[in-house]
Amino acid sequence: MTALAPGSRIGILGGGQLGRMTALAAARLGYRCHVLAPEADSPAGEVAAAWTRADYLDDAALRGFARSVDVVTLEFENVPVAALERLAALVPVRPSPTVLATCQDRLLEKGFLTTAGIATASWAPVHGPADLATAIARTGLPAVLKTARLGYDGKGQALVRDSAAARQAWLELGSVPAILEGFVEFAMEMSVVIARGLDGRCAAYVPVENRHEHHILRTTIAPAPLPEAAAAEAVEIARRIALALDLVGVLGVEMFWTVDRRILVNELAPRPHNSGHWTIDACWTSQFEQQVRAVCGLPLGEPGRFCDAVMTNLLGDEVEAWPALLAEPGARLHLYGKREARPGRKMGHVTRLGAPLLRR
Ligand code: AMP
Repeated sequence: MTALAPGSRIGILGGGQLGRMTALAAARLGYRCHVLAPEADSPAGEVAAAWTRADYLDDAALRGFARSVDVVTLEFENVPVAALERLAALVPVRPSPTVLATCQDRLLEKGFLTTAGIATASWAPVHGPADLATAIARTGLPAVLKTARLGYDGKGQALVRDSAAARQAWLELGSVPAILEGFVEFAMEMSVVIARGLDGRCAAYVPVENRHEHHILRTTIAPAPLPEAAAAEAVEIARRIALALDLVGVLGVEMFWTVDRRILVNELAPRPHNSGHWTIDACWTSQFEQQVRAVCGLPLGEPGRFCDAVMTNLLGDEVEAWPALLAEPGARLHLYGKREARPGRKMGHVTRLGAPLLRR
């Protein structure tokens, strides 16, 4: 295993805030980042050493990008797998195109989890209205119908209470391949962010509680208020997933803590995760530094925390509160430099730190 020494060049596919924070962590360690993203406005591109504005499938741009970097990673899971495959023929791509393909499609993702023996909500594929009766027999009602691809922040999904509503929902979601999931009675939504290095070693952050509003993450509470055994189980589940995926990089594992005290995995995000932003200010190594370390083949850093933390996303015009947040003791403000504060758009976040913890 050869590590890419500081000074090497990291390619990042995707131009959003996750790429921005990855590029900042990379710069701190002396790496240079090159962002490739199609948007004109790129929070990541603005802080990177180089930025190519191009479509992910633009062949000439991909070839130039591959020549200019030593390794490629991503910050956005809806990059076409074909783009990663083309790049992988030219330069190491971490995580691999296979990991991306698995996590990009809810049917492949749930199939992978089930095969790996990881508990999820009951689920069944829906390729057309004819599949609905069998699917409902498997999941029961109510159930959640989700498009297999391209859903995020609650988009592309519908709660259904009977078979007529399921049929209607499938049409309204665009008559595309979908997954029906049993409705989970959860007491809490939580996640584990885990990194896996090129040497196969894992480093997981403590499980955190995630509170959503209108399907968008509002607040992450670190650590999640879980019994100790359940917290250990959540970390073990994330470790098994990272291993089964043969992941190199950072993975966000979204989970439900059910009212009957079981852990069910909901979704996988093969990149730094919004619920890991608190690690920048409260942990020895942030999730973004872990991403840099993992993709460059360096040993992972210590994931422990030196204080508890609560992270709150700043959505839309909430970002205008920045003067008060800057003045608040114990609050750490992060702004993404986005010019337009559309409603619900993630403009920044604030991490409020608890009292220092004694080191283990
Ligand atoms: P997802 O896009 O899969 O992360 O779903 C967005 C949100 O919808 C989750 O954070 C949950 O609040 C809710 N949700 C998703 N799937 C289910 C389910 N099977 N049962 C209950 N709630 C769900």
